[in-house]
Amino acid sequence: MIIIRPLDFVCLIHPVAASMKRLLPTLMVLLAARAVLAAQPEQPPAGWPQLPAKALASNTKLVEPHLHVNRAGKGAPRIALTFDACMGKTDPRILSTLVDQRIPATIFVTARWLRTNPDALAVFLANPDLFELENHGQNHIPAIDIPTKVYGIPAAGSPQAVAQEVKGGADAMIAAGIPQPRWFRGATAKYSPSAIAQIRGMGYRVAGYSVNGDSGSLLPAKMVEKQYASAKDGDVIISHINQPTHAAGEGVAASILALKAKGVEFVRLQDIPEKGDDGTTN
Ligand SMILES: [Zn+2]
Repeated sequence: MIIIRPLDFVCLIHPVAASMKRLLPTLMVLLAARAVLAAQPEQPPAGWPQLPAKALASNTKLVEPHLHVNRAGKGAPRIALTFDACMGKTDPRILSTLVDQRIPATIFVTARWLRTNPDALAVFLANPDLFELENHGQNHIPAIDIPTKVYGIPAAGSPQAVAQEVKGGADAMIAAGIPQPRWFRGATAKYSPSAIAQIRGMGYRVAGYSVNGDSGSLLPAKMVEKQYASAKDGDVIISHINQPTHAAGEGVAASILALKAKGVEFVRLQDIPEKGDDGTTN
């Protein structure tokens, strides 16, 4: 006759439970370790397969570099006007002001914009003394090599995609008859430091700015005029030339005339030494 004591009963029916009881202290240690690891997802424990560093750098701080051109010093202030042609159309108020007033400017174009604006491109190419054309990318995707969003726009997300955005922009420019670009400005003008180094390695300087003229073409005309009026010797102004229906363009056109009336010396990026931060220039 077998006498089954309560504990033996449990052990017979649930042999696994018995081993669980012995393993309980070990399990608690493991659970505590897992909680610590969960709080530090970017630091996998030693011995784990090493993921590419970029995939782990989701907390990388993005930079929005400044750019200045060498100051004139005495006399008229020197200012570089830069315009982004992201996609969409061309603002005739800005383009005709630049051409009519013979004001030089640097225009950053995308492959997307080039496809739909042959007439404006023809004006740029017909005035090489005025317009320097530079690279704003292939599809207007932020040139950031980690998965993230900027203003809701998904970034390129990998070094390969950054390379494609830069090279695709340049390829489209050359196919359209534009000289090889030397400057790159990514969509949103924000970058990861590693993407800046990568783009520099592709032979480009990365174009920041020092005065935000139109905040993505979203400012009212009067606010644009205030922004432009704040520009000083050596400033690089960024605005947009692809939003003909926005009020901002009216402010940009008026502001160009106001700067000219002040005697400003307008320069293009290719014409003058410059200084950018975050490793964007020499
Ligand atoms: Zn843009």
